[in-house]
Amino acid sequence: MSPGVSGIGGREVGSVTIVGLSLAGLRAAETLRRLGFAGPIRAIGAEAREPYDRPPLSKEVLSGAWEPAQTALCKGDLGALDLELHLGRAATRLDIATGTVTLDDATTITSDAVILTTGARARRLPASICDPDLDSVHVLRTLDDAVSLRAAFEGRPRVAVIGAGFIGMEVAVSARARGLDVTVIEALPQPMVRGLGAEIGATCAALHRDHGVDLRLGVGVERVLADEVALADGTTIAADVIVVGVGAAPNVEWLEGSGLTIDNGIVCAATCAAAPGIYAAGDVARWPNPLFDGELMRLEHWTNAAEQALHVAQQIATGESADFAPVPFVWSDQYDTKIQAVGRFDADCEMHVAHGTLEERKFVALFGRNDRIVGALGFSSPRFVMQYRRLVAERASWSHALAKASG
Ligand SMILES: Cc1cc2nc3c(=O)[nH]c(=O)nc-3n(C[C@H](O)[C@H](O)[C@H](O)COP(=O)(O)OP(=O)(O)OC[C@H]3O[C@@H](n4cnc5c(N)ncnc54)[C@H](O)[C@@H]3O)c2cc1C
Repeated sequence: MSPGVSGIGGREVGSVTIVGLSLAGLRAAETLRRLGFAGPIRAIGAEAREPYDRPPLSKEVLSGAWEPAQTALCKGDLGALDLELHLGRAATRLDIATGTVTLDDATTITSDAVILTTGARARRLPASICDPDLDSVHVLRTLDDAVSLRAAFEGRPRVAVIGAGFIGMEVAVSARARGLDVTVIEALPQPMVRGLGAEIGATCAALHRDHGVDLRLGVGVERVLADEVALADGTTIAADVIVVGVGAAPNVEWLEGSGLTIDNGIVCAATCAAAPGIYAAGDVARWPNPLFDGELMRLEHWTNAAEQALHVAQQIATGESADFAPVPFVWSDQYDTKIQAVGRFDADCEMHVAHGTLEERKFVALFGRNDRIVGALGFSSPRFVMQYRRLVAERASWSHALAKASG
């Protein structure tokens, strides 16, 4: 750590505004209080409810294993954090020179530091392909989305999922758990191929096909109607419920013109400061991760949102600045397989299966680039994955990682 954190306009930080009260916003508030920050914390949340956890939405809530209330993030009492809460209110403007946030009811709130944790929202298909008002079409980002999709599942519908990323595949898992007919449509040749590469993507495809999912790969969607999806190859998929899982977009529009750099998220320094006294954390933040030679990253991972918020709040509470240099970590639960990935890798990396085999769907694959281990991915192998997380954090060489794997 090095000294140097002060508030907006060089002021000492005696008050903080947090914009976006979900995982990152809550963790920031909790950390400030835990570290003894006693000043006012103003928390603005566009959703008119206390913070809840999103990963169970596509898993336990959708499958019916959990009631929505079980997703509450604040197991204790939110009141104990002594926050000035503005729930059900969206921030519409930020003045970075004064630290003033304007809300959608024209209230203005000025603090010495501002933490931006507005996250991301589900992307939708263009209106030319999919009428946004169709009742049968769903996305999954919020608790309301999950409750509405779960209610739609009650009628034992035929489900079409557009997009075979993590969320789309988890929706397919939960729908299959309820015994529904599921078709997944993906324009790329394999599920999750961008992140996992073709070979592991094919393993994922096999996992879902074995559980009865009809996968249509390498084919685009031409048009979505109320009860069918027309594909580019001329086929149509009959469906009563259509779930669009085509990724997420950062919630940054309200910051246009604020003077912050907005480019696929809020672009920050390595400390996660976007401007003096203004910080970003979680799905909305894009920062140069020093562990990966300053590569600009915007992660949509639960652990990152929690850790980055903690990092930002720590700097504010202690007055000491520090770079944020984590090893990214993400997991996904698919049937009885726990998929876990650490680090930063893509299909262009060298890949080596270090433990198990893809065929048995219990393995750890290592990923290398420029003679360095940059990531590991496991199917049902949590202990090994965490072992390689350490090597990624240590910037171990590729040959060292391979030696470790064989030793
Ligand atoms: C269905 C689902 C399943 C997931 N499963 C996994 C998983 O298995 N593993 C994993 O690692 N990650 C998973 N994730 C990702 C993880 O949940 C996110 O990374 C995490 O929620 C990010 O937290 P956040 O606080 O940065 O943003 P968000 O959770 O997006 O919260 C941002 C909040 O800010 C509010 N907001 C937006 N704009 C404004 C504004 N202008 N003013 C005020 N408030 C505003 C939003 O309403 C929202 O409440 C999943 C996500 C979803 C949707």
